[in-house]
Amino acid sequence: MKKLDSPLNTGEVALVGAGPGDASLLTFAAHKLISDCDVIVYDALVSDEILALADANAECICAGKRGGRPSTSQEDICATLVALAKQGKRVVRLKGGDPFVFGRGGEEMRALAAANIPFRIIPGITSGIAAPALAGIPVTDRTVNASLAFLTGHEASENSRMDWKALVKAFPVLVFYMGAKNLPQIATRLIDAGLNANTSIAIIHSAGTQDETCDTGTLSQAKSKTIIAKSPAIVVVGDVVDCRIDWRNKA
Ligand code: SAH
Repeated sequence: MKKLDSPLNTGEVALVGAGPGDASLLTFAAHKLISDCDVIVYDALVSDEILALADANAECICAGKRGGRPSTSQEDICATLVALAKQGKRVVRLKGGDPFVFGRGGEEMRALAAANIPFRIIPGITSGIAAPALAGIPVTDRTVNASLAFLTGHEASENSRMDWKALVKAFPVLVFYMGAKNLPQIATRLIDAGLNANTSIAIIHSAGTQDETCDTGTLSQAKSKTIIAKSPAIVVVGDVVDCRIDWRNKA
């Protein structure tokens, strides 16, 4: 079986999860590969602190939206990875959180495989787990839930394909990625699907960075925009929010 943290071969691509932002939450393999590669193709959510770990000679290519510049299309990113590998470069494709959780890592893996490029996958700590943990919210607690769901907030828009009633019935805890913009719609859908309007929610913004904040409230407050979310944020819905201990801001 392939080793995760052995040096990259020439012409090899590693799809690497960078975790939520704090460099100390990188995996050992991620750290090793970032600091020993020829090119890093990174997303907007990858922190400067992590990019600073790159070898001084490594080329860093931004493939995400930053400072208002348009984002590169997924097709172009896949083509870039293939082209760099074919040039014999040792490539790290660095993504926020985990590459396979709402990260399009699957598409990139398929593109690499189709082009016969050797690759490896380095999982990262996904923000849906890291953000609540850093805010002191257990995503499962024996007193609250035996299951949880990870969802994208994009699905709350008008043409939702999700069965919200089934969702609310099956999962006592819901963790939304990409939910900041649609938060009022998400709250409305959940209340309409039968969830109590007083259900607790937490909005964890920029977890693992200097700007990290956690705001708590209720679904009805989110619906009425009394509490709002700023991107990037993880939104946790359910009674686990009431278990919160704000351990990081304790003296
Ligand atoms: N692959 C990433 C998710 C990418 S989708 C992962 O596993 O974490 C982008 C969404 O991730 C954002 O809209 C936000 O909901 C969430 N996110 C990523 N980094 C975050 C962070 N540091 N703090 C809070 N949310 C974050």
